[in-house]
Amino acid sequence: MITPVISIDGPVASGKGTIARRIAEALNFGLLDSGAIYRAHAQACLSRKISFNEINLLEAEAKALSLKFVGEAVWLDGVDATVAIRSEAVGMAASTLSAIPQVRAALLQRQRDFAAAPGLVADGRDMGTVVFPDALLKIYLTTTAEVRAGRRAGQVAKLRVAAGETMSAKQLIDKGKSPTITGLLETIRAQVQHDVEVQIRRRDWQDKSRKIAPLKPAIDAIVIDNAAHSPDETVAAILKLWHLRLASTQAS
Ligand code: C5P
Repeated sequence: MITPVISIDGPVASGKGTIARRIAEALNFGLLDSGAIYRAHAQACLSRKISFNEINLLEAEAKALSLKFVGEAVWLDGVDATVAIRSEAVGMAASTLSAIPQVRAALLQRQRDFAAAPGLVADGRDMGTVVFPDALLKIYLTTTAEVRAGRRAGQVAKLRVAAGETMSAKQLIDKGKSPTITGLLETIRAQVQHDVEVQIRRRDWQDKSRKIAPLKPAIDAIVIDNAAHSPDETVAAILKLWHLRLASTQAS
């Protein structure tokens, strides 16, 4: 029997990672975070100082990639690399290296091997167009770069406050914010928003304009703009689409 696959593609910070995980949990399906594979490859190449012009070495690294997913953790070369691969520098390097056809070819089967019963939710850029062209349900999740930057900036602010960043009550009041954690989070968010948006637009452009497997909705994908929807609403909508799709395949 062919493994049922739900592909969820979309640009940076579209929320697809969270949504894909929740759909996989709801259906008890496996989860493929294909971006983590490209990030791990980039991280391995960066730490071995491989030049981005050395196509043969970049390809060999992709073929030999020693990568393990342990729950939500990503282990690279026997070390927990979950946090290291999430930096924007690694994301941008992954975006550059993933435009190389030999690198994509070397990582293709590794992604397809995730398809196993009872089903798979695959999150990435080309899940519905290239890796799983026969996916039973294809979703393209997106919204404007501005909204996505706002979300990413909010995450950055939370991480920085959790890491101990602080400001005096006077500094916050001078900036027109309340002297509370909320005021602190809002201030940091506003400070980083612009740079985050520039990074997002740059990576979007790079991922959309490459010659091989560019970021775009599959022709048979359902495009969801989730700007006005909570994650709960988006998950509910996708699960409803999935059950309708299953019912229509079983009826035909
Ligand atoms: O999704 P994430 O931001 O982790 O992906 C990092 C980069 O890896 C993307 O910007 C994209 O260039 C690349 N990628 C890809 N194909 C995928 C998943 C990610 O080219 N299926």
